[in-house]
Amino acid sequence: MSCLFCRIIAGEIPGTFLYQDNRLVVLQDINPQAPLHALVVPRKHIATLNDLSAEDDGLVGEMVRRAALVAREKGVAEEGYRAVLNCNREAGQTVFHIHLHVIGGRPMAWPPG
Ligand code: 5GP
Ligand code: ZN
Repeated sequence: MSCLFCRIIAGEIPGTFLYQDNRLVVLQDINPQAPLHALVVPRKHIATLNDLSAEDDGLVGEMVRRAALVAREKGVAEEGYRAVLNCNREAGQTVFHIHLHVIGGRPMAWPPG
């Protein structure tokens, strides 16, 4: 198994798990870009946003709702936060197992760099 997030989920590589259930996990990002930087990661290996199929609709819904719950738990829900899916090279995707970034705890600019 060569996928970094599959290996973390399998326990082969250490990770800090903020939440887990039978469909997804929430990891602390190893290189946080804000006071809150978590990654909502499905257990199912899906390489990019382009590889989602209709059968994943429920899973994606769970990822987005989990992002909101993490933000609420970490106290940034009302001030605001960002939930980001980077897809492929120009967007800066570096790990090819989809993950929803949950970033908050500081003001953020728009448009993103
Ligand atoms: P991407 O650039 O693919 O959207 O995001 C990948 C994210 O994974 C980055 O924010 C990066 O800091 C994080 N990351 C890379 N390697 C590891 C790791 O080994 N453990 C954890 N928890 N996060 C990682
Ligand atoms: Zn994977």
